[in-house]
Amino acid sequence: TTFADLGLAPNILKALDESGYKTPTPIQAEAIPHVLSGGDVTGIAQTGTGKTAAFVLPMIHRLSKGRARARMPRCLILCPTRELAAQVAESFEKYGKHLKLTMALLIGGVSFKEQEGLLQRGVDVLIATPGRLLDQFDRGKLLLMGVEYFIIDEADRMLDMGFIPDIEKICSKLPPRRQTLLFSATFPTDIQRLAKTFQRDPVKIEV
Ligand code: AMP
Repeated sequence: TTFADLGLAPNILKALDESGYKTPTPIQAEAIPHVLSGGDVTGIAQTGTGKTAAFVLPMIHRLSKGRARARMPRCLILCPTRELAAQVAESFEKYGKHLKLTMALLIGGVSFKEQEGLLQRGVDVLIATPGRLLDQFDRGKLLLMGVEYFIIDEADRMLDMGFIPDIEKICSKLPPRRQTLLFSATFPTDIQRLAKTFQRDPVKIEV
């Protein structure tokens, strides 16, 4: 399989080529076509398997159609730590460099002020840690009813860090008609329950 076989847009294939990636990893080969066709995916994969690009690549493809509206991010990505959030942001920048996507980060250590301006204007992608996101939401700076794509990265680490109640609260603000992707290194009962309540007929991919 090649990245082109998976159905990604030429602009994305160009960025992939420039980054030096030749072939999709197994999680990418399995997840990308499902995400492109609009389905929910539960991906059970460790760090190092290429799981970040498995959701970033098809998300860029889907987001390239359509346009962001003020205060309403189209794609919301929750990460357990600011380091991981920054890594996901880097990935969006790398593979999305030939497209005009806008992005904001709500994590510790990044100034609210700067991100607030971006959110106010409207972003395609919002990458956040759960606590920071809820802060901004509670301050009325953010509207979550425009979210079309919801991604939970490293769900089992979220569980370990006690973020599940925050995630449930965030999820209750999202429109029910959306695409939800959940990635986790392990799949304990609590995460299975999350997948069941947040996702619709997900395809489960284990690598
Ligand atoms: P991740 O599992 O998302 O943390 O990615 C692990 C590492 O693999 C990252 O440094 C990526 O840059 C790299 N990577 C992701 N996809 C590919 C690919 N298809 N070919 C080569 N390297 C990749």
